[in-house]
Amino acid sequence: MKRWIDLQPHLRQMLGTEEYGTWIRPLSPVRLEGSTLVLSCTNDIVTDWVRDHLLRDIQTVARSHYGPDFHIELETPNGSHAPQTASVESSSTSTTGRHASPQMNPAYTFDRFVIGPSNQFACAAAEAVAERPGQAYNPLFIYGGSGLGKTHLLHAIAHRILHERGQRLRVVYMTTEQFVNQLINCIRRKKMDEFRSTFRAADVLLLDDIQFIAGKERTQVEFFHTFNTLQSAGRQVVFTSDARPADIPGLEERLRSRFLQGLLADIQPPELETRCAILREKARAIGWQLPEDVVLFIARRVQKNVRELEGCLNRSVAFAQLTSHPMTVDLVRTALSQLLPDEHRTSPPDVIRFVAHHYGVRVADLKGRSNRRSIALPRQVAMFLIREILNLSYPEIGKIFAKHHSTVIYAVDTVQKMRQSNPDFDATMTSFREHFES
Ligand code: ADP
Ligand code: MG
Repeated sequence: MKRWIDLQPHLRQMLGTEEYGTWIRPLSPVRLEGSTLVLSCTNDIVTDWVRDHLLRDIQTVARSHYGPDFHIELETPNGSHAPQTASVESSSTSTTGRHASPQMNPAYTFDRFVIGPSNQFACAAAEAVAERPGQAYNPLFIYGGSGLGKTHLLHAIAHRILHERGQRLRVVYMTTEQFVNQLINCIRRKKMDEFRSTFRAADVLLLDDIQFIAGKERTQVEFFHTFNTLQSAGRQVVFTSDARPADIPGLEERLRSRFLQGLLADIQPPELETRCAILREKARAIGWQLPEDVVLFIARRVQKNVRELEGCLNRSVAFAQLTSHPMTVDLVRTALSQLLPDEHRTSPPDVIRFVAHHYGVRVADLKGRSNRRSIALPRQVAMFLIREILNLSYPEIGKIFAKHHSTVIYAVDTVQKMRQSNPDFDATMTSFREHFES
């Protein structure tokens, strides 16, 4: 069972701690039959999910450690073997000339990549590489968290080289998982020459998610040679990774230092402005124009992952279409209610407490009747912030303060006018808003 235990850190690295905990930890090794490791799990749901979604990946990881003939089988709780074992298939995208391969998403172009401070550098580096492959930065290593546009940029490089510039360069795009699978296949079929010539003929090699190579020694050796051949021939290599080279565990030192030879470019989670611009762009691409308050509502709630941001947009659009309701904040709130857990949400009392503290007044005063300016202004600010941050309706806010909704409208309006005429006040309001966003 040592074999299974030894794989654990690599599986955790591949899947992330959460998924690992959910799907891998419940599995236990039952026996090793020759080169077949049999796993089982008492939970049917986990068993089914793993079989349908993860077995191939687990297999790939296992084979990269224990050789191409290693098998993993999943036993169902009643004792029968799972009908299918995972199979490794080979696929790659190598393409020359005007047509990118089907594996490449046609929407992932530079035109459609929204630039902001968080990704500007990586995007500029990617464009430079696409303009002058092999000359600008080699290798280019783009890293950043999940769903922040790494794959998008990688495809954009391919599109730019292939169609927009019409160069007749051989571009090979591949996920590192595919690279590993193909390598394993070629070793098994004793076709290493073919493998080498495929890669070594590339003018541009784009390898997505290179962190997947972590801990796979045999793959790293082969990869090192491929990489050297390409680089010394002046061919361009671009990697993406979810971690910087120093943070990829089990990476050979010589590979790590190669990754650092060129340019390292990070992508950070986008700021609010950029998130809004991305939402507008994604909506435009599917023929929608969102009201600005809807854009803000979604952008404020999803902060760390553009893929999730897009998911929220798509869900909202589907919801509007299915219910034939117009796209409003209320509709979006309903559409996303299950996706955005309540406990992370700021509540009106949070905002009121914060404002009371800032102005040195009591919560009871803000909710009370006094119209002294020292109380009225903080109260107006609290109403404004609740409207801005939580998007509650005027009557809903009125209820919280036991005031008529016209008072809330007046308060929001007053604060807005003050922001326009008083830059210091405006800056304070911005910092309040940011306080609740992070
Ligand atoms: P990663 O490879 O970093 O996990 P992806 O490149 O797959 O992320 O991006 C996830 C989704 O977010 C894609 O649909 C991509 O188009 C979109 N996306 C990410 N960043 C941007 C951006 N700056 N502008 C437009 N779309 C973006
Ligand atoms: Mg990606």
